[in-house]
Amino acid sequence: MGAEVKVSETRDLTRIERIGAHSHIRGLGLDDTLEPRNVSQGMVGQKPARRAVGVICKMIKEGKIAGRGVLLAGQPGTGKTAIAMAMAKSLGEETPFAMMAGSEIFSLEMSKTEALTQAFRKAIGVKIKEETEIIEGEVVEIQIDRPATAGAASKSGKLTLKTTEMETVYDLGSKMIEALTKEKAQSGDVIAIDKASGKITKLGRSFARSRDYDATGAQTRFVQCPDGELQKRKEVVHVVTLHEIDVINSRTQGFLALFAGDTGEIRSEVREQINNKVAEWREEGKAEIVPGVLFIDEVHMLDMECFSFLNRALENEMAPILVVATNRGITKIRGTNYKSPHGIPLDLLDRLLIISTQPYTEDEMRRILDIRAEEEDVEMAEEAKELLTKIGQETSLRYAIHLITAAALACQKRRGKEVSIEDISKVYSLFMDVKRSTQFLMEYQEQFMFNEVPDTSEMVE
Ligand code: ATP
Repeated sequence: MGAEVKVSETRDLTRIERIGAHSHIRGLGLDDTLEPRNVSQGMVGQKPARRAVGVICKMIKEGKIAGRGVLLAGQPGTGKTAIAMAMAKSLGEETPFAMMAGSEIFSLEMSKTEALTQAFRKAIGVKIKEETEIIEGEVVEIQIDRPATAGAASKSGKLTLKTTEMETVYDLGSKMIEALTKEKAQSGDVIAIDKASGKITKLGRSFARSRDYDATGAQTRFVQCPDGELQKRKEVVHVVTLHEIDVINSRTQGFLALFAGDTGEIRSEVREQINNKVAEWREEGKAEIVPGVLFIDEVHMLDMECFSFLNRALENEMAPILVVATNRGITKIRGTNYKSPHGIPLDLLDRLLIISTQPYTEDEMRRILDIRAEEEDVEMAEEAKELLTKIGQETSLRYAIHLITAAALACQKRRGKEVSIEDISKVYSLFMDVKRSTQFLMEYQEQFMFNEVPDTSEMVE
C-alpha cells in the first residue's frame, strides 16, 4: 500500500517538469545513416529539414564546422523551434547550446552588443584538462611540528607513507594537516591523497598487518599499484563556457550571479584577460575549445547593428554555429526602410545555409497531437482526436495543442474518463483562434477603442 502512494507522488513530480511546449522532443529521430524515421524521439515528419540538421550535427560533433550559420525558415508552427531543441538534445551535454529570442537583446540592463556577446560566449565551451597525482599508501607516521609561537596560523609536519616496498616522507602544510585531521588518519590507515585538491580519503586499515579493509576494495586498488610506486596520474576534464569563466572572474558580479542569471555587463578587460588565459592553456595543451550552438529565434527582431555584429562574430576563430529561425517572408529590416528576404540583410543571408520547414499534412498533424496528448497524460477518444486534427488544419497546430489541456480539464470537470468530442467542442467555443477573433473584431470594431485598422491583411501578422 505504502509503495503505491509513493509511485503516484513521483508521477506528479515528473509531470510538472514535463509539460513544456517542446518537452516531447527527445532528439532528431534519425537512424544510423542519418535518415529521419517517420515518428521517432517525439519528432514527426519534416524529413528534409531533420535530415539537413542531422548532417550539421554530425559535422559539429566531429569538429568539422565552426563559425557557420544556419537559417530555419518556414511558416509559424512548422517546428523550427522544435528542430532546434532536437538539435540541442542530439548534440549531447558536452556541446554547449545557448538559446535566445531576438527580442531579448532590447533589454534595459545591458547594451545590445553586450547581450549578443554574452550569448555567443555561452555557446563556446572550454574543455579544461587538469592532471592530478593520486598518492596511495599506508600511513607509517604523522608528525606535526610544534608551532614556534603559540597560536601560529600555519602548521607544518611530516607524513611517512609506505607501499609494500618502500617508505616515502612528505612535508605537510596546514591544508594537508587539516585534511588528515578531518579524516582522522592515523598510523596503519591506508589513504589516498589527491595532490591537486589536497583531498584525503581513507581507504581502510593496514594491508600489511590486517586485512580488515578488504570490504572497501582498497586492497585491490593498492595491490594493482606496481610495487614501490606511490603515485598515480589521473586526468580530470571539465567543460565550462567562456561566459561562465567571465562571470566567475568578474569582480563586480561574483560567481553567485551565475545562479541568479542576472549577470549585467561584463567589462571588456575581464574578457580580454580570459581570452589570453584560454589561449595560453590551449598552447600548453591544458584546454580545448568546444564550439557549441547559439540559437536565435525570431531573428527578424534584430536590427542592423546586431546583424553587423553577427557578421563579424561569425568570423572569429572560436565562433559557435549560429542557428537562427524566422517565420517572416520578404519584410523590412528592423529600424530601416529596406526590405530583404526574412528581414535579414543580404550579406548575412549569404553566409547562412537555409533550411526550410513545410506545413504539416493532416496525418502528420494527427501524429503530433497524439504525441502531445500522451505527453500530457490525456486520454482521448478516437473521434475527439479526429475533430482536434480537423481544428488544427483549419486554425493552427499550436491552437490545437492548447486545446488538449483545456479539453482535459473540461473532461475532468464532468468526471469523464477520456476526452470526448463534446469536450473538444466546448473548449473550441470557449477559446477563440486567431481567425475567429479577427472576424469578431471586424464585426464589432466600432465598439472597441482606438479602432484604426481598415485593412485586415496588416492586422494578422
Ligand atoms: P513560430 O514560427 O511561430 O515560432 P515554430 O516553427 O518555431 O513556430 P514550433 O514552436 O517549433 O514552431 O512548433 C509548435 C508546436 O508544435 C511545438 O509544441 C512543437 O514542439 C510542436 N511540433 C512542431 N513540429 C513538430 C514535429 N515535427 N514533431 C513533433 N512536434 C512538433
